[in-house]
Amino acid sequence: MTLRHLIAEQVLLGGEFVPAHLEILDGEIARIHRLSTGEGRRREEIVKASDVGAGAGMTVVRPSHLVLPGNVDTHVHINEPGRTSWEGFATGTMAAALGGVTSVVDMPLNSIPPTVDVESLRIKQRAAMGQTYVDVGFWGGIIPGNTAQLRPLWEAGAFGFKCFLLPSGVDEFPPVNGEQLREAMAEVARFDGLVIVHAEDAETIERATEVTGRRRRLSHYADWALTRPHDAEVAAISDLIEAVRETGCRTHILHLASARALDIIAAARTEGLPLTVETCPHYLCFEADSIPDGAAEFKCCPPIRDSGNREALWDALREGIIDAVVSDHSPSTAEEKHRGAPDLQQAWGGISGLQVGFSAVAHEARLRGIGIEQVSSWMAENTAALAGLSRKGIIAPGRDADLVIYDPQETNVVSAMGLAHKNPISAYEHYEITGTVIGAVLRGIELFSPRDTTSALAPVGQFLRGAGHLELSPMTR
Ligand SMILES: [Zn+2]
Repeated sequence: MTLRHLIAEQVLLGGEFVPAHLEILDGEIARIHRLSTGEGRRREEIVKASDVGAGAGMTVVRPSHLVLPGNVDTHVHINEPGRTSWEGFATGTMAAALGGVTSVVDMPLNSIPPTVDVESLRIKQRAAMGQTYVDVGFWGGIIPGNTAQLRPLWEAGAFGFKCFLLPSGVDEFPPVNGEQLREAMAEVARFDGLVIVHAEDAETIERATEVTGRRRRLSHYADWALTRPHDAEVAAISDLIEAVRETGCRTHILHLASARALDIIAAARTEGLPLTVETCPHYLCFEADSIPDGAAEFKCCPPIRDSGNREALWDALREGIIDAVVSDHSPSTAEEKHRGAPDLQQAWGGISGLQVGFSAVAHEARLRGIGIEQVSSWMAENTAALAGLSRKGIIAPGRDADLVIYDPQETNVVSAMGLAHKNPISAYEHYEITGTVIGAVLRGIELFSPRDTTSALAPVGQFLRGAGHLELSPMTR
């Protein structure tokens, strides 16, 4: 159903839940009428009387349900084409929709080819065409030697450029050294683009691995995590901050796991450097010591750390030092995940969290007395702002009518088999979550709703393009 009117007692507007009637036209929020408590029923009658045929395009949300902006997940590895057995556009974006994520921005690596020039972006868009259930945008990548490709990628609609400072895990996406990083950042700064960085220091990890690993199997998670220590993040981030200072390039730190880097990040921001940072649901939900031995579904890089670190990340979110929470959804096949089992060293490093991430973070936030409106700011508003998605992220006139209907009371136990991801492997298996996404709307189109739980979702997703997109570029469809 295409919505023209949504009436609800609890709509997230300007940071608080208020009764409201949203008028939707051509996929966008055309007008917002604030209502008084309990006024919804009367409003429904008025709409029916005044707008002939509106009954077919109207939904009245139950008073106990919340209406939030669709979440924007800017860190998702879809892996198609090339590693579609790990995840694909159909399964990945279906999982997104069911988890309340109405926009994703796909990472440039793990698909083959990686998105490092306009031609590879075109290949990826062709692969995605017609099989996405939510809106999808694309990051470009920085690898040694592709600096000249960055501006064309930006103008073709890439949202920014990802690089690694150590091996990425796949050979076709090599890391950059300090000199190459600065060359790319200087180029991206020329067109005011954004560089996003996997910040772990290769030498620190090399040294830690010599000490801890190599000699034995590491099946205990906390032992394996010692091979990727806090210092690896701190060292890489402090060098990155220096590069931001030198180049002036807008820069974003991906998947911060170590709270020990927060002080230098906060100081860099106080200094006025254009630096933002994200963390991920798994760093906020889990702690290394509680992970069962050999459980590769929890392996991710950088690793999950101890409980004190976890709470420090929550504090940093509350204080606004960390801007955003994104899934870093990076699944693989069972074969890759269990390679070398129970030794964790050879297993694929990446957590499948796209469908569960929002409700898991909302659940953990509630346990800490943090309202879901805060979670929405981290997972919708701030991620949209990070990517420059000016039509997404909040419920406001002129924005896309991307909405999530959320039942704060319903409790579910996660079962990997029940998720829409391609591979039924989940760190959240058996995890009990209170609060669940029961409906989603994309540009006014109901993807699913509490009234209708049987109709198949329709692949109505569209491509998103970054701020640098030129209408006349060869990427225009
Ligand atoms: Zn990632």
